[in-house]
Amino acid sequence: MSHTGRGILTVVSGFAGSGKGTVMKKLIAEHDNYALSISATSRAPRPGEEEGVSYFFKTREQFEEMIKADALLEYAEYVGNYYGTPKDFVFSKMDEGRDVILEIELQGAMQIKKKYPDTLLIFLTPPSAQELYDRLKGRGTETDEVIAKRMKRASEEVQSVKDYDYLVINDNIDDCTARVHDIIQSAHHTTGHEAAMIEKLKTELEAII
Ligand code: 5GP
Repeated sequence: MSHTGRGILTVVSGFAGSGKGTVMKKLIAEHDNYALSISATSRAPRPGEEEGVSYFFKTREQFEEMIKADALLEYAEYVGNYYGTPKDFVFSKMDEGRDVILEIELQGAMQIKKKYPDTLLIFLTPPSAQELYDRLKGRGTETDEVIAKRMKRASEEVQSVKDYDYLVINDNIDDCTARVHDIIQSAHHTTGHEAAMIEKLKTELEAII
């Protein structure tokens, strides 16, 4: 590795249908420096989703117990369900030097940025609203009512995209994945993340002069 120290914490958000799940899977498959956090949720599993792989599926009561026990780094209610990031995994992986990715929605992203200002925030979007609608519809896993809710939610979320550090347009999975990778790897070289290297240089210089 050409950088030093701890992994970068990155939040990736995007409208439902932005393709972020696919981009994240590709990123993890292509590079071994990433660890993807698995969230807890009170939403019911979709067909094909596996416990402990897609999410840790909880009842609302179980989720509320996790909130009480302070086991979550952040949590939010999104379209009627709880979603949250279990704390332990994130910090242990970052300490191992892995770049941890949280694929979470906006309210959670803002909570994380407030608590940990060094966090990198990336927002993914399809090239147009029509494309977003077509992708949601094409997925065929949601009712028209849920799709309508998610489109309304997107129209609210677009107001806050400017609070993210980067906007990446997902017009092509390969290009989008490469762009996300470049952004995260560049973040390793910000002076904030190179604090350990700066300290090392300081000590070395003092020994020489
Ligand atoms: P879905 O139901 O489509 O899997 O996820 C709905 C939204 O919840 C997505 O925007 C997803 O990124 C977000 N989400 C998933 N896990 C978490 C989490 O742990 N915390 C927060 N705040 N949002 C999450």
